[in-house]
Amino acid sequence: MLIVNQELSNQGNVSAEIHERKNMKNLVLYNTRERKKIPFIALDPEQKLVKMYTCGPTVYNYAHIGNLRTYIFEDILKRTLLFYGFQVKHVMNITDVGHLTDDADRGEDKMEKGAFREGKSVWDIAQRYTDAFKQNLKDLNILDPNIWCKATDHIAQQIDLIQKLEAKGLTYRLEDGIYYNTAQFPEYKNFARLDIENIKAGARVEVVEGKKNPTDFALWKFSPKDGPKRQMEWESPWGIGFPGWHIECSAMSMHYLGEQFDIHCGGIDHIPVHHTNEIAQVEAVTNKLWVNFWLHGEFLVVQASSDKEGDTKRMGKSEGNFLTLEVLKSKNYHPLAYRYLLLNAHYRSQLIYTEDAMQSAQRGFVNFKEKIIQLKESIGKEKNLKAGIHEDYVSQFFQAIGDDLNTPQALAVAWKILGDSSLSPLEKLQTLEKLDEVLGLGVAQMKAETQEIPAEISQILEERIHARKEKDWKKSDLLRDKIKAMGYEVLDGKDGMKVKKIQ
Ligand code: AMP
Ligand code: ZN
Repeated sequence: MLIVNQELSNQGNVSAEIHERKNMKNLVLYNTRERKKIPFIALDPEQKLVKMYTCGPTVYNYAHIGNLRTYIFEDILKRTLLFYGFQVKHVMNITDVGHLTDDADRGEDKMEKGAFREGKSVWDIAQRYTDAFKQNLKDLNILDPNIWCKATDHIAQQIDLIQKLEAKGLTYRLEDGIYYNTAQFPEYKNFARLDIENIKAGARVEVVEGKKNPTDFALWKFSPKDGPKRQMEWESPWGIGFPGWHIECSAMSMHYLGEQFDIHCGGIDHIPVHHTNEIAQVEAVTNKLWVNFWLHGEFLVVQASSDKEGDTKRMGKSEGNFLTLEVLKSKNYHPLAYRYLLLNAHYRSQLIYTEDAMQSAQRGFVNFKEKIIQLKESIGKEKNLKAGIHEDYVSQFFQAIGDDLNTPQALAVAWKILGDSSLSPLEKLQTLEKLDEVLGLGVAQMKAETQEIPAEISQILEERIHARKEKDWKKSDLLRDKIKAMGYEVLDGKDGMKVKKIQ
């Protein structure tokens, strides 16, 4: 296969590199554009450089763990590309203007609304939630993009693109803004397989008065004539206002990655509107295929309030059923336990979030971490251990992750390594560190946490040590139960008695 040959021809690097290439399997990804899994080939195979754009957050509030599911899936994709030896140029936008509360181009700007809610300036709101978002990425071991770009820093590029669309006769003016006439771009329906006739027939009374087609969307919105003055507004050839939400991704991705690039991602909800509109904005101007691979992550859902079994609802801000990572942390869940939960599901399947599932993921993650710490401890004690990355397991891992990012299977390979008594602890650790380049569970950083044991517990422990010396087993058991009731588990081992906080 093309990529393997290319990589093999690139020998002469360090031995670990060659080792990797030998194990390399096809990377196959599900391309939304074609609705099927196909081998991934970079647009510029010589360069081994993959250009990737992922739609980022609207920074008017905290991201919820549903949003974060999408960013983790994209992180796994990017890490997989790196694992396959590609370099990745990754761009992510920050929407700090223009995303209306209503997808039909009505309603308020989410940012201005957020600022009003908190009595702060829009710029402050944007900064606050951008910082919070970046902290989320850090907590979840999500690699930073190479380029962050804010919509408000790229107004000129957006105006420029709208002017190009205007010059092609694809726009029209309404009282509240400049709109894209989707009927002028016959390919509009292709990406999302839209049934335009049905959409027209089912359209409610025009959502925006004067819109020529139900699928038309705003490119530039005018600042309202009445009411409070907007905090963010710019001069434009059409009047003072602000950009429509979809134009930023088209303009900024082209600005940083060019008119054609490899991968564009987002959540599944972006297929029929946001990404469809992004494509219309770009391809109508360039007359070229814009993005080669489109990947979309499925939703994190929650049980609907109705009692009907299996009835679920997307986790969403407007649905009012969302949790943030901070809430998980306040419940003593480790952020990486959330990552672990997500790894156990395929990104193209819906995942139902429940407290039980989260607890079980926390147990799984803690168990995994303890096993890694044990490996590190035995490596510290034993000398002359056999070292090296285990080829067969790397190969199995490639097979799993290379099959459209099958993380549940990839994680199972990691567990197989932990359970394989034919490997030395050092071989296990080195192989797992390699696989963790994709899993991102922080294997290299895992270490025993020094816990502050409350004085009260230490005192009971002393009593228990004494009771055991006296062979008073009944008292010893009672004291263990007492410690457990206080949230700690007693571990009796060769090296004495230890306590561990119950997670
Ligand atoms: P937004 O800030 O609403 O633009 O969403 C940011 C990203 O999260 C987008 O890629 C959405 O498609 C995605 N997203 C929104 N809700 C969910 C959910 N419940 N599960 C997974 N991804 C989601
Ligand atoms: Zn976008």
